[in-house]
Amino acid sequence: EVWQNDTLIERVQLTDATDRTIKLDGNTIVLSGKTAKIADADCRDQVCVRTGILTHAGQAAVCLPHRVVLKLVGVNDSGIDAVVS
Ligand SMILES: [Zn+2]
Repeated sequence: EVWQNDTLIERVQLTDATDRTIKLDGNTIVLSGKTAKIADADCRDQVCVRTGILTHAGQAAVCLPHRVVLKLVGVNDSGIDAVVS
């Protein structure tokens, strides 16, 4: 999921064949296979870029200056978000 300003911008199902770049205002997100990362950003702290590649559900990369959140969300076969109890 890609969020900016508390709004869901994109929700992409990741597969082994995913190869996609999403350009946001200030951030470039790259989806590659079942991984995602903020590849480029023009913010000053670069914390989002240094977070690196996300590979597991529950991981997230956040760009506070641009209010961008990139997160991997686990989905089970029924399409309902996985819940850990
Ligand atoms: Zn950033």
